[in-house]
Amino acid sequence: QKTESSNKQTKAKSSCHALLDRFDQQYSKELGDLWASVRSVLLEPRSWQYGVMLNRFCSVTDTTQILQLQGFSTLLLQKGVTEKHTLPDSGCISECPPSDFCCPTDGASLVTSQHPQSEPSLPPLLQCYVHPSPLRFPSQAHRHGQLKQYYLLNAASLLPVLALNVRDGEKVLDLCAAPGGKALAIMQSANPALLCCNEPDRHRRDRLAKTLESFLPTSLNSGVIVSAEDGRSFGQNEPGVYDKVLVDAPCSNDRSWLYSSSSQQGEQRLRERAMLPTLQAELLKSALLAVRPGGVVVYSTCTLSSYENCSVVRSVLNEFPEAELEDLQEEIAFPLSQYFAFNPYATHRPSPHEPSLQPQRWKESYHHPLGILVLPQPGKTWGPMYLSRIRRRK
Ligand code: SAM
Repeated sequence: QKTESSNKQTKAKSSCHALLDRFDQQYSKELGDLWASVRSVLLEPRSWQYGVMLNRFCSVTDTTQILQLQGFSTLLLQKGVTEKHTLPDSGCISECPPSDFCCPTDGASLVTSQHPQSEPSLPPLLQCYVHPSPLRFPSQAHRHGQLKQYYLLNAASLLPVLALNVRDGEKVLDLCAAPGGKALAIMQSANPALLCCNEPDRHRRDRLAKTLESFLPTSLNSGVIVSAEDGRSFGQNEPGVYDKVLVDAPCSNDRSWLYSSSSQQGEQRLRERAMLPTLQAELLKSALLAVRPGGVVVYSTCTLSSYENCSVVRSVLNEFPEAELEDLQEEIAFPLSQYFAFNPYATHRPSPHEPSLQPQRWKESYHHPLGILVLPQPGKTWGPMYLSRIRRRK
């Protein structure tokens, strides 16, 4: 295994003018001065960092050693021994997909330690290796009869999974699951009784199934299922069934859409972008109906757009009096701000003289992001990633 620069992979990319113009108009208003530095990162793919998630279901000692030798370090620091975890039986897969399909932009690569230690707020088994510079660990080729050891990802993809905080024995729905990076991260972080990975698009669902097959032992087959529904139907068809639901919604993927292959594709995506908030709100409503009273829904996107982020969350909260927004500052933004650049609101601690906004007023405040947003910044190029957590009270 040798590390290669992202340079090789990305040198041919050129950005789409129509999308960049739209981003300039919208994001300079929404992000103010911060847009200039976010823009500089999005326009320089050679600066992008990648994370490596190890697979706890197979031995990763050799990979961990190589990562450490090359200057990678664990993203999620695990301090103190609070829990000991037993790994489920490692299993070999009989059939693996023929080629590597790790995807650095919308996939996720998680590294897991063999005998992880945890601090209470972080899933004990989930670790990700990152490098301070944009070194890209090579994707892993198919290994006949063996599980893949790691998955490459934008490390910000882990944050919705951390916010979901799945516990052993829970029933979990990943409403928009392909290509499967977050489903894998969920399986690295806990042993749910059920993980239903839903994806209506056939090609993407095939890719999801291959991801699961390549990383999870066959002994988990009964607990991890793939379904093919329109996510909007779950609320009606399976009301109150799940403990946790992840809505990693279809969205304008700012990072990849900026590099649309033609101006026609760019224009088409701008038209799609206008339609997305309606679909996103319907998916989020469906998720809130599919979760049990007391259960939790995490809504996430990989766009900076407030129309697809806080506007969607606000409109759904206004329709669901039983839905309660939860704070992610203390649990995610403060502890992880050394790795990720968040929107200023996420890491703002009100001074003693400054009145802090009470949770019940959040949704009425048009300046409140109703979640946290990871902003790509030089040296911390992770994101964009927006996440919001909502609990169904009854
Ligand atoms: N969670 C995935 C991961 O971490 O690898 C990425 C999900 S991607 C952002 C959004 C997915 O939603 C796409 O695969 C898309 O096909 C799917 N999707 C689109 N419309 C949907 C719908 N009505 N119901 C459920 N999923 C949908």
